[in-house]
Amino acid sequence: MGIGVRNYPFVMSIQLNNLTLTYERHPAVHHVTATIGQGDWLAVVGPNGAGKSTLLNAMAGLTTIDDGSIEGLSPNTVAYLPQQTQLDRCFPITVFELVVTGLWAKLGFFESLNKSQYEQCGDAISAVGLQGFERRMINTLSGGQLQRSLFARVLLQDQPVILLDEPFNAIDTKTLADLTQLIKQWHQHKRTVIMVTHDLDYIQEHCPQTLLLARDCIGYGATKEILTRENLEKARQHFEAFDKRANSCVQGAA
Ligand code: ADP
Ligand code: MG
Repeated sequence: MGIGVRNYPFVMSIQLNNLTLTYERHPAVHHVTATIGQGDWLAVVGPNGAGKSTLLNAMAGLTTIDDGSIEGLSPNTVAYLPQQTQLDRCFPITVFELVVTGLWAKLGFFESLNKSQYEQCGDAISAVGLQGFERRMINTLSGGQLQRSLFARVLLQDQPVILLDEPFNAIDTKTLADLTQLIKQWHQHKRTVIMVTHDLDYIQEHCPQTLLLARDCIGYGATKEILTRENLEKARQHFEAFDKRANSCVQGAA
């Protein structure tokens, strides 16, 4: 069996309970409640600034929770592919070194790789079609090649829950198809995949569940019921109205 494709036998759902996340008391995610089943392939969709990345950061254990809770997750059950805007591409590391960071949780920062771990890194790099690129600096990669490297890192992390923040931004159609095959394998092997994307056609075709976010949860459930024109318009209007309310509060308080 290939790397990162074994089944997870235990049942684990993720609960978002009335979850609120803020920056300087300004809510970015507001009272969101949802139960995400093991093996779901969930799209998180919403306007720019709707709180999608903030939500994934919190699920990865990287932000503090202001109110409510997240249950069924811990940092050592989650593999996280952050949005490319959150990455410093100038950081002077090679593809191999980037991919190896997927083993840090198991390895510890200063431990060196044993032979089998070294092979696992090679296998992950091959699985995303980047063999021969191991020594390339990441700042010389195309958008698609960088995204493939980040998927290789997720493969190595080998976790039951996979968070992908806009994984298909600025990539070519071949990379999109190849990476979609990887996600399909994870899905078939009952990993939980939670993916932020703006591509509604992609969601309709691939993602059975959708969470429509505009700070508040506008809809959560089966994609065909949630991803309607009416709901998308509702999300847009809700988001704009929330901003106006927030502004008038600030002005009122001044
Ligand atoms: P999305 O991913 O849906 O585009 P984000 O989660 O990145 O949205 O951002 C949600 C809101 O939180 C936005 O108004 C954004 O400006 C704000 N925000 C995000 N990160 C920070 C931060 N580090 N400090 C302050 N505000 C932030
Ligand atoms: Mg984002």
